[in-house]
Amino acid sequence: MTQQKTRTLNLRIPGPTPVPDDILAAVGRPMVNHRGKEFAGIVQRTTDRLKDFFLTSQEVMILSASGTGGLEAAVVNTLSPGDSVLAVSIGSFGERFATIAETYGAEVKPLSYEWGQAANADDVRAALKEDAKIKAVLVTHNETSTGVTNPLAEIASAVREFDKLILVDAVSSLGAIPMEMDSWGLDCVVTGSQKGWMVPPGLAFASLSERGWNAYEQSKMPRFYFDLGKHRDSQAKGQTPFTPAMSIFFGLDIALDRMAAEGLESIFTRHKKIGAFTRAGVQRLGLELLCQDERFASDTVTAVKCPEGIEVSAIRNAMEDDYNIILAGGQGKLSGKIFRIGHLGLVQEEDISSTLEALGETLGKLGFKP
Ligand code: PLP
Repeated sequence: MTQQKTRTLNLRIPGPTPVPDDILAAVGRPMVNHRGKEFAGIVQRTTDRLKDFFLTSQEVMILSASGTGGLEAAVVNTLSPGDSVLAVSIGSFGERFATIAETYGAEVKPLSYEWGQAANADDVRAALKEDAKIKAVLVTHNETSTGVTNPLAEIASAVREFDKLILVDAVSSLGAIPMEMDSWGLDCVVTGSQKGWMVPPGLAFASLSERGWNAYEQSKMPRFYFDLGKHRDSQAKGQTPFTPAMSIFFGLDIALDRMAAEGLESIFTRHKKIGAFTRAGVQRLGLELLCQDERFASDTVTAVKCPEGIEVSAIRNAMEDDYNIILAGGQGKLSGKIFRIGHLGLVQEEDISSTLEALGETLGKLGFKP
């Protein structure tokens, strides 16, 4: 039998994030009957406790899918082909949300910003004022590809001035930075297990407001696997409509215990401090942030401009080979131009100090002079 060598990695990408040992152990548990009593308890506990993180009184549905499946669920459960949607995009994931809506036949009106900038609530207000046909606004809370957090509460407040839906990609924000589904008036919120939740990839969480459920009743987009009504009805019986990614549920059950013990406010404070610490450290090394406006800088991921004359791949390879630290590259048009440091979920200041120290040494070796 060959033994697989494992190395301790400092996984500093914005998801999948490191998973604590007790959660990993839970993920490795033997299977049980997914229609049995024990698993029903896990479904009930996890879906109930997720409400405390979404800050909603609505049901949270757990889908066996990645975050993109959750975004698809948001679209197909609230819209009909031909519906006009305003797709606010500040990066690659904003574009993906728009593409999903377009794929299902929505008429997409883009409201796009330069990558690295945040969206502006007044622009959303103006777009809604100008075109009464718009039925829904799609928005990314935290744009992982650029390290920018949109002013979601303000955008939502602009949308609430009109009778429109707001569908939110909170994949890399929820459970790490503040987001209040009910009090901000959000109609659909989606996130994914491999981000702030310290759980491996495989589950998406989605919730609909009352307005969202009314839209569900009217919506005519084709849907089967991601039909949220089916998920809601099954969950009421402690089940899922299809065989779930049970191992990830086992892990989530433990993760939610850990997160409840730390407390939402402490989780937010930890991310806020670590976000600021990362940005300050990067700038101290003489590097430039992609997000130039500190008000919108993400506390879960930092995008750093690659210095002239140095390849992103050289930095990432040296960090991995010499220090076992994994950084993310840029996506889409930022590929080869930036690298990203993830700091969400299981992260402490020491993880970032060691990353910054290794980064400084690596840049030195590659000939960077600040
Ligand atoms: N939206 C955002 C903001 C993300 O960060 C990601 C993943 O990185 C996604 C959507 C897509 O999620 P997944 O890769 O789990 O499908």
